[in-house]
Amino acid sequence: MTNWEAVIGIETHVELQTRSKMFCGCEVNFSADPNTTVCPVCLALPGALPVPNEEAIEGILKIGAALDCELVESSLFHRKNYFYPDLPKNYQISQYDVPLCVDGHIDIDVDGEEARVGITRVHMEEDTGKSLHGSDTGRIHDADHSLLDFNRSGVPLVEIVSEPDIRSPEQARAYAAELQRVVRALGVSDVRLEEGSVRFDANISVRPAGQAEFGTRTEVKNMNSLRSLQRAIAYEIQRQIGVIEGNGEIVQETRHWNEDSGATSSMRSKEESEDYRYFQEPDLVPLHVDGEWRDRVFAGLPELPSARRKRIVAAGVEPQAAATLVEAGDLADLFDHAVSLGADRKQIANWLTGEVVAHLRRNEVALADTGLSAAHLNELGSLVGEGALSSTAAKEVLGHVLSGEGSPREVAAARDLTQISDQTALDAEVDAVLAANPDVVERLRSGDMKPIGFVVGQVMKATRGKADPKLVSELVRSKTQGD
Ligand code: ADP
Ligand code: MG
Ligand code: ZN
Repeated sequence: MTNWEAVIGIETHVELQTRSKMFCGCEVNFSADPNTTVCPVCLALPGALPVPNEEAIEGILKIGAALDCELVESSLFHRKNYFYPDLPKNYQISQYDVPLCVDGHIDIDVDGEEARVGITRVHMEEDTGKSLHGSDTGRIHDADHSLLDFNRSGVPLVEIVSEPDIRSPEQARAYAAELQRVVRALGVSDVRLEEGSVRFDANISVRPAGQAEFGTRTEVKNMNSLRSLQRAIAYEIQRQIGVIEGNGEIVQETRHWNEDSGATSSMRSKEESEDYRYFQEPDLVPLHVDGEWRDRVFAGLPELPSARRKRIVAAGVEPQAAATLVEAGDLADLFDHAVSLGADRKQIANWLTGEVVAHLRRNEVALADTGLSAAHLNELGSLVGEGALSSTAAKEVLGHVLSGEGSPREVAAARDLTQISDQTALDAEVDAVLAANPDVVERLRSGDMKPIGFVVGQVMKATRGKADPKLVSELVRSKTQGD
């Protein structure tokens, strides 16, 4: 039986969150009423001329720089010609043979196994409008009418093409997730799969392990979660193996992922690039990116997710917790800020990845909505350090801080959660429990320390959980083991 190896390359489209569109001044606003953010340029009225958006060029340069690409000095815009009802110009302005950024990479890690995925190119294009098909299934075959919305027409789009370096559905998912994190860290797009501000198309082929040449590939579209991306690729690999083992042949084509059936189906045969009749856009001059601009882009890059994870791990935080913090960038920001105030790294990481994440999930709120601050976390840490809060009480206090009840000190006082760590206050409590249990005292005196837990438990009960258990057990020891 042949041992098959999958070969995968991913094309990613990212919608940039610029104020205006790529070649006109129309606002980029996805919640606007249909066909209200349009003008002669993005509706392709005759005679309208495009003007490139500097903010968008800056955005793509940032992405290229973050992916360790080479940023080219001079780049060209081309027309990519094809007919589609939501493409009123009948061409997209895109970059063809001279993209803005080339030759980068992303490092991924699947279950501790690291791999490097090359980035072939990152180039600039513009989005099309949107077709809405009037049918229950949303599919064109079943529709009796279609509606067109041109608000998205001309929104700046960045295409990121990977090398065929990916070998498994899990690696593909790790690649896509890391790319999302990088772009999010740059603040140029919110890269939401469900809302289409990022789209992943997977190119997939299989070959007998050890064979140098690639097999014929198919391109799978329409995955709107990382989970579907992984599922679609896994399905397509098995489908191709089945076809080849059944003496069939893989046809190079575009396939549609259907989430409900969990299968891909043929959409159209793949266009070759000559089908697009690319030629240089005559309405635009070549784009020059001088050395000063490139230097500025590199110098202005934020700390990227991989570097951030490494730094937090090096500070003593578990890799899994560091990954959780960095995944939601705002948690890592809060972590860094609290640590800069002197808070204990591990403790802060535990609270953030434990109680805080659980609270956000349970209540479906964003961190910013809770009002939790670095000062709160630092104060909570001090209360534990001073012995004023037990670690259990600290978690309870944190929960109420997250619900907006005030600072940790205020919550601890208002809810009477402050721990009794004053020795004189606990002396009497311990004495009372010992006096009531002479048999226990007998055992402790004879060196059998097992009942110590019982005594601590009784004191905790008597103080309604507010005694410092460590101090109580020290007191019991000194009272029974004494000289
Ligand atoms: P096109 O423009 O026709 O889509 P590209 O050269 O841009 O073709 O390649 C598209 C993607 O397909 C890239 O991510 C590339 O790595 C990947 N790719 C190319 N050949 C194969 C193959 N045989 N198997 C899997 N992926 C491939
Ligand atoms: Mg392509
Ligand atoms: Zn416009």
